[in-house]
Amino acid sequence: MTNKDLANVIFPDIDKDIKYYEDMYPNRDLKEGAKVTRFAPSPTGFMHLGGFFQAIIDKVLAHNSNGVFYLRNEDTDQKREVKEAVDLIMKTLEDYDIVPDEYEYNDKVVGNYGPYIQSKRKEIYHTFIKHLIEIGRAYPCFCTKEELDLMRQKQEKYKARLGYYGRYAKCRNLSIEEQIERIKNGEEYVIRFKSLGDNEKRFFFDDLVRGTLNLPENDMDIIIMKSNDKLPTYHFAHFVDDYLMHTTHVVRGEEWLSSVPVHIELFKAFGVKPPKYIHTPLIVKRDGNGVRKLSKRKDPEATMSYYKELGYPAIAVIESLMTIINSNYEEWHTANPDKTYLDFTYSPKKMSATGGALYDLEKLNNISKNIISKFKADYLYDELSKWSKVYDSEFYELITKYKDYTINILNIEREQKKPRKDYENYSSIKGLIWYMYDELFFNEEKSYDFGTINDKEEIKLIVNTYFDKFYNKEDDKETWFNKMKELCDSLGYASNMKEYKENPDKFKGNVADVSTVIRVAITTSSQTPDLYEILKLIDNDRIAKRIELL
Ligand code: GLU
Repeated sequence: MTNKDLANVIFPDIDKDIKYYEDMYPNRDLKEGAKVTRFAPSPTGFMHLGGFFQAIIDKVLAHNSNGVFYLRNEDTDQKREVKEAVDLIMKTLEDYDIVPDEYEYNDKVVGNYGPYIQSKRKEIYHTFIKHLIEIGRAYPCFCTKEELDLMRQKQEKYKARLGYYGRYAKCRNLSIEEQIERIKNGEEYVIRFKSLGDNEKRFFFDDLVRGTLNLPENDMDIIIMKSNDKLPTYHFAHFVDDYLMHTTHVVRGEEWLSSVPVHIELFKAFGVKPPKYIHTPLIVKRDGNGVRKLSKRKDPEATMSYYKELGYPAIAVIESLMTIINSNYEEWHTANPDKTYLDFTYSPKKMSATGGALYDLEKLNNISKNIISKFKADYLYDELSKWSKVYDSEFYELITKYKDYTINILNIEREQKKPRKDYENYSSIKGLIWYMYDELFFNEEKSYDFGTINDKEEIKLIVNTYFDKFYNKEDDKETWFNKMKELCDSLGYASNMKEYKENPDKFKGNVADVSTVIRVAITTSSQTPDLYEILKLIDNDRIAKRIELL
């Protein structure tokens, strides 16, 4: 009996060989230096910021080099798979305009290297595993959970390294006859890789972020095929797929760094050159005086849906991640304001290798405010409309009913050299302009803070005098402002700040106090954009109703 017989007993239906697949998936027709990257999430129902962060790097690397960025659905852990998770991944990539060059979604396959869903690639994996068995580099393992537990206890007791290796790897020495017999008897088994490594020896490995690392060789006989569904484990599937799909650069989280020795040995066993690896740092956030890993449970910003719900423009989220992807990104962007992040040349060396990548929501807010401030009012309206349709139907109805009015509101202090930067995302807009809509103004609980002037009668006097005698919608801004000063003079307030500062006791207050009273009377807020513009947008009869409330 030979290894070939064993391989045939395990995989009687596999009649193809590795060469068949190598021919089926030939080298990609790309120019020298083009990079092939992949985003390979396991669909679990969440789209994490960390995964998205890697997808952006994949996209930029491929784009920079005229390469290919593809999506591979790593669903070999079928217990965890959630159908909606796949939709969520694709939808998120669409939202951010980073739809991969190759992918498979809802029976649509784009690209010649598919299937791009691991559970559909079983036959390919089996062919590769069959080959390993034939050359004596993989074997069935019949150890039960109880036996493995006992083994672990023994290892703990003798302070040995944990795992299935060397003399602990009981099943690696079974005779072929026994293996075949036990399989025929229907015993459950997994397939393990037969490692030839020596844990005492070390080898050099180049990680593109961390530089050359000196790692111990692998000596673990890891599981490459599970017993129940006969699907491969991540380690094996990633090797087969990245090889056949001609991935040049694997971008993945640093949690995989410890698996590198296994992966390198797998590539070696097939005589195949491994791709280059970019192990990305963990995304961390500030916590007290230190930093900690973003937690899916504790930090809503760890999940991509957070940004969508709050209504951040997609590009703002991408830009905020770019600033932690490469330390020189901001400087580059300031020097090249008209270019997009896709024009930036990503360099793994400029990525923080230790201590994590510090993500900061305040930074995102600043970036986002800047980006939104540059939108044209029409465009901002459309975005606000799309967002509110899903997340705030009451507001959606209002802004749809008063479309032109809303565009005018959004246009206050916009489309000018130094636009106002107060909207950090779409969900923050309503809270900043609600008072412009009577439906909200008259129905919301309001509190007025008039500032230094707080005598009710005095407030009424200022407001009534102003609107009865001085205010005219047709006035240009300069006239408007002069009339505000006239109002002050007529009521004993200083219209000139310099004079006021020199002699405060001579006046009841100053022009700033008076305009605050008018601003607050009409909006309730002392922090609004340009009062002149606001008053222009609210019809006089609507103003009158607001004054009645005082
Ligand atoms: N499916 C793996 C994960 O979600 C991907 C790791 C990789 O990119 O190779 O963690």
